[in-house]
This record gives sequence, C-alpha cells and structure tokens, in this order.
Amino acid sequence: MIKLTFLGTSDSVPSAERNHTSILLTYEGENILIDCGEGTQRQFRKLGLNPCKITKILLTHRHADHSLGLPGLLKTMALTGYNKTLEIYGPNGTKIFMENLFRTFGKIEEYKMNIHEVSGRFFENKNFFLEAERMTHGVPCNAYLFVKKGQIRIDKSKLKKYKLPEGIHLRDLKLGKNIRYKGRIFKAKDFTFVENGKKISFVLDTSENKNIVPLVKNSDVLVCEASFSSDMEKKAREFHHLTSKQAGEIAKKSKSKKLLLTHLSQRFEKKKEIILKEARKIFKNSHLVKDLEVVEV
Ligand SMILES: [Zn+2]
Ligand SMILES: [Zn+2]
Repeated sequence: MIKLTFLGTSDSVPSAERNHTSILLTYEGENILIDCGEGTQRQFRKLGLNPCKITKILLTHRHADHSLGLPGLLKTMALTGYNKTLEIYGPNGTKIFMENLFRTFGKIEEYKMNIHEVSGRFFENKNFFLEAERMTHGVPCNAYLFVKKGQIRIDKSKLKKYKLPEGIHLRDLKLGKNIRYKGRIFKAKDFTFVENGKKISFVLDTSENKNIVPLVKNSDVLVCEASFSSDMEKKAREFHHLTSKQAGEIAKKSKSKKLLLTHLSQRFEKKKEIILKEARKIFKNSHLVKDLEVVEV
C-alpha cells in the first residue's frame, strides 16, 4: 500500500490550520519527502513520524515555502542518528542552492548526501520508478511521478481464443517478451495486461503548460496545486500558478481517477468551498486536502 501524508498544504503564507508545503510518500521501506516548507519537521512530530526514516527528498523548486524547512530537518536527522545516504533530487540549480544553504546554515558532516539535478526517469528499481518533468514557474521547477510497477499477467481468455496452450513456453510472455510457438509469433502486448500498477503525480507550483496533461495521464491520484479561484486566472498566470478550475481540467483531460487539491492560498481559508466547487464542477472526484491528512492509494 502507498500512503500519502500531507504535512503542509498552504501556499507561501501559512495559516493557523495550514503549514507550508510538504508531502510524505511511504511505500515498502521507502519514505519519500516531496518538498520541505518551513516547519515541516514539527509536522513529523505531530504525527509521531521519524524523519530518520526518510530515504529520498524530491524538491519541486527552491521557493522558500517549499524548501525553508530543509536546514532544520537535515540537522535534526544528523542529531538523531540518521545512518543512510540521503538522496536529494531537484531541478536545475539544486546543487548550487544546497551549497548556499550549507554555507549559510553549516555543513552536515554526520551522514552522506547525494544531490541530483533531474529530468525524465531518474530512479527505478523492481517495484517503482520516479520521473520528473519541467514546469513553468519563473524559476526551475519540476513536477514528479511515482509509479508503482504492476505485475504482468497473462490474459487467459486470449490464450483460449488464439488456441495457445498454457505451459512453460509462456514464461517469456510474463516478462513482457514476444514468443514463438509452433512457428507462430505471439506478441506480449496482445496476450498480457498489467495488474496493480499505481501512478501518483505531484504538480506543485506551475502555470498551465502543455507538459502537464501528457505527464500525469491516467494517474490513480493527481496531487495538484490550486492557489487561485478561476476569477483570478490572470493573476494565477502572472504569478505562475494554477486555478482550481485548471486543476479540474487537468484531472479530466488526463483521465486521472482522483484529484487532491493542495497549496491553498490563505485568502480562501474561510471560503475553501469555492476552490473545491470549481474543481468538482469539472472533475467530480476532487478533494481538498488538509494538514496531517493521510490518503491511502
Ligand atoms: Zn509554493
Ligand atoms: Zn513557488
């Protein structure tokens, strides 16, 4: 099971209810932190989570509401016995950004850290892969995908239909390879399907752009910023953000299954239903997440 913990759900100005942006994705020993706004480590404490379990940090961009929690969190990890190699991923400019952080707040000597500037597929193991795509936000900014790989299964009804008996010769089909049986070629894509795959997309801080829909296509869960309501579309574009209507349109066009709205502007704290309503009008399965909410996928 994949678990998303929303540690912070505000935009650049936090409110009493909402901390700056940060999301923790947990899956089979992996604890991937997406962004680390100011105060993120206290959100860990509130839920009784241990920051020393973090395996990877994905930074969408360097704006303070997504990164200012890093110096404190990394230091706490040093003080509480972090003993792994921490992998930090971000867009172009992340290496110099991290160097500047360490120059200002002091270097972390207690554990090893690798900083990567990434685009495209940048991590893969047998269970899942991670992908980054450039967004439009005035500064280098990435959207991210977490894709849990599904298992390839044989479609038994097709075997019957094409008179292909079961047996050891199907082994390569299960690996996604085409096979030859009694002189005939059977293509893996015609006889197999993928089961239990999951795709989770994170689109934080961007204006509308042509990269988003193809990237997030068929997401099981699309986490998307909705900083503005649709009557503020001009302002959203000017500040390189999305409206809740645009978030709903992205979910619909990409045929995603569920939309989780976050990065809420404090101006909507008392009228959140505007944001939710606008997205729901276009895409029914929309939800506005709140701090410390946990979503299982
Ligand atoms: Zn932001
Ligand atoms: Zn930003």
